[in-house]
Amino acid sequence: MYRCWSSIRAREVLKYLSARAPAELIGNRPRHETADIWRSIACQVEASYNGGPPLAGAIADITKCVNALPRIPIFALARLLHLPTAFCSTWCQALTNMQRRFVVEGGVGRPLLTTNGYPEGDPLSVCAMFMVNLALHAVSFSDHLESCFWTFVDDWQITGTSPEDVLNGMTVVSRFCDMLGLTLDERKTFFWGTTAAFRQHFRDLHKVVKLHLRNLGGHISYSRVASNHTITDRFAHCTQFWHWMKRSTAPIEQKLRLLPVVAWPRFLHGSAGVPLGDEHFRKFRSKAMQSLSFDRKGANPLLQFGGILHPKHDPAFHVLVATFRAFRRFCIPDVAFPILNGLASQSTPLRGPGPCEVFLSRLHSVGWTWMGEGVIEDQVGVSFHILHCPLQLLHARLVAAWEYRVGATVSTREGFQGLEHMSSALTWGRKHWDSESQGLLRVVLNGSFFTRDKQFATGKVPDKICPFCCSEEDSIHHRHFSCTHFQHVRDKLPREFFQQLDELPECTLQHGWT
Ligand SMILES: [Zn+2]
Repeated sequence: MYRCWSSIRAREVLKYLSARAPAELIGNRPRHETADIWRSIACQVEASYNGGPPLAGAIADITKCVNALPRIPIFALARLLHLPTAFCSTWCQALTNMQRRFVVEGGVGRPLLTTNGYPEGDPLSVCAMFMVNLALHAVSFSDHLESCFWTFVDDWQITGTSPEDVLNGMTVVSRFCDMLGLTLDERKTFFWGTTAAFRQHFRDLHKVVKLHLRNLGGHISYSRVASNHTITDRFAHCTQFWHWMKRSTAPIEQKLRLLPVVAWPRFLHGSAGVPLGDEHFRKFRSKAMQSLSFDRKGANPLLQFGGILHPKHDPAFHVLVATFRAFRRFCIPDVAFPILNGLASQSTPLRGPGPCEVFLSRLHSVGWTWMGEGVIEDQVGVSFHILHCPLQLLHARLVAAWEYRVGATVSTREGFQGLEHMSSALTWGRKHWDSESQGLLRVVLNGSFFTRDKQFATGKVPDKICPFCCSEEDSIHHRHFSCTHFQHVRDKLPREFFQQLDELPECTLQHGWT
């Protein structure tokens, strides 16, 4: 009954408190998420490296925060914030009567009562933490600090334009913790700065200085060094998934659905603002090809996932869409647009770690150009505004740009000339192919070797002679246009068809791309 009551009341209390919270208080508020903090700070760091003022900051670590919150000061805060007396006394009584038991080596201890801490999993504990964060912001405001406070539940961060501002902010945090009886873990409290002098200043005071770290599910670089270990460390744990997918007896359509729904969101989470090399995507594509048993000799994974199937099956396209979505969701035009204008006018390669630089490099990867002030020109010269373009239209434009990119990349391969002008939708047509036809079409379209001139190199066939007519050397051209064994199939086609063949590109003649 308490759980039911507390979840209803917690929603109401959070709504009431949220209306009184500053913008930098992020945790447990509607339309706010952890990325609000790290993307805002990452963008400020990037602005600092692109002509803005130098920046310093700190991340405070509170030991077992929710378990150690003192109850009496928090109920006093609740009264100060005008939460109803009847609600406060019910909540207080429920907590007072709540018993805790400890499990030591399998044995459950005697029930214990406590005057400190809020139970984890209780929705009202979230409200208690929210009030503590509100109090911290109020204290920082009343002390007229130059630094800015950011809070997400028990993750407290400070940013400022000088190390002194940040250290003053940390003094306030540590005094605030002392007042509430909370412990600040000095070893897990990190400092950072965008200049060597700032970092040295912190090191001279024996503070732990970080150049980049994982924070709130994201990865932030505080220096010019591009790093992505938070994301790439996760790649090592995906082997089991590919193993399960390979062993699964589910139909191909169901296995394919796992890629955009499970694999890419799980493995590539948080990669929208982090630089990632093409090598990672190549590995993901070949793993997916193996798990789906599409990995025949000659099969092109880029064409398979980005051309034959909808590009949502491709890991790099997933990251591209995530980058555009995140940019639209979190960008502050007044900060991001000047950075992008500056970066777009530079001739040096984009290798920096900031979210704007990553966004611009991905925008360039599909042949698009940043024209300035939010206007983008796509691969065919059509201009649109990144924030004003409807999301569905932007997505359709990204799909078209990706197919063009895949076509242009694969068109350099023998037999695929002209692929950049082909369309996946026209090639497949509106017809729904049965699973056997889909398998045959896949082999033809993705470049898998099925003729003896290509298979000879694998050592599995004795010669390059066509196995059907046994007279000429085998090749796709031979089977399509000169093999006597298939003459009866060609006879069914109208004569005019063969007169147009000279005008068609190789990718159509050999692989049937339209
Ligand atoms: Zn033949």
